[in-house]
Amino acid sequence: MHCSGYFNKIGIMNLFDSHVHLDYEPLANEVGQVVEKAYKVGVTRMINVGASLRGSGRSVELAEQYPNIWAALGLHPHEAEAAPNLDLSLEKIKGLARSDKVVAIGEIGLDYFKDQVLISRQEKKLQKELFWAQLKLALELDLPVVFHVREAWDDFFEIISEDEFKDIRGVIHCFTGDEKIAREALKHNLLIGFTGFVTFAQSKFDHIRAAVKTVSLERILIETDAPFLAPEPYRGKPNEPAYVVEVARKIASLKGVEVAEVAEKTTNNTKKLFNI
Ligand SMILES: [Zn+2]
Ligand SMILES: [Zn+2]
Repeated sequence: MHCSGYFNKIGIMNLFDSHVHLDYEPLANEVGQVVEKAYKVGVTRMINVGASLRGSGRSVELAEQYPNIWAALGLHPHEAEAAPNLDLSLEKIKGLARSDKVVAIGEIGLDYFKDQVLISRQEKKLQKELFWAQLKLALELDLPVVFHVREAWDDFFEIISEDEFKDIRGVIHCFTGDEKIAREALKHNLLIGFTGFVTFAQSKFDHIRAAVKTVSLERILIETDAPFLAPEPYRGKPNEPAYVVEVARKIASLKGVEVAEVAEKTTNNTKKLFNI
């Protein structure tokens, strides 16, 4: 029964927020309400993404507690300097991955922009080692990958072009590239995750909107990356999964389709990628 009249036009759709961090403040204190509010507007599923060992552990706990949350496990590239014992960390992630609710390795990747500056060559090397080791782990566990890539496209594509990684499946989350980078990602069979960036009015986000138009709906996931990056009209406030509706709306208007079609296709894409 979904035609109770309670739901508005948006509410009868099922949206999948493919990337949230409910373990971060201020969401961590009110997970129950956040999940319920999302559900009421049609955001019926979400993936909580680990960025650190602690966050990965919390992701599994949340996923085991809530039937409509799944978990991704990984060490964010900015953890590279703080992760002195890589082998031990990977062993811990492997242990966590025994939960049935774990659907991906991520977020992992390369991010050469930290604290508003480009990082040193030494730190780039550490990030690459961390990324490479976690790609091997994804292959070993036969899990898809949630990629985080910022200011590091050449090195990213070079690594995932290595022969042993050619079968890796995954999504580039919070896509910040242009049409050309989007086409390159599609060539590697990757999906593209778009956030509230697509709703930000300034022209410096136009290239991301151009990428939305280039990528077919069959290859797009939507996400909030909550609590960061709240879309318009909530920009500047803490983000939450309920707001992924705004990302879907903007993508629908950019593509000239109904928002229901965006909801249906992105939900299917997410379920298919993560085998949910
Ligand atoms: Zn990220
Ligand atoms: Zn994230």
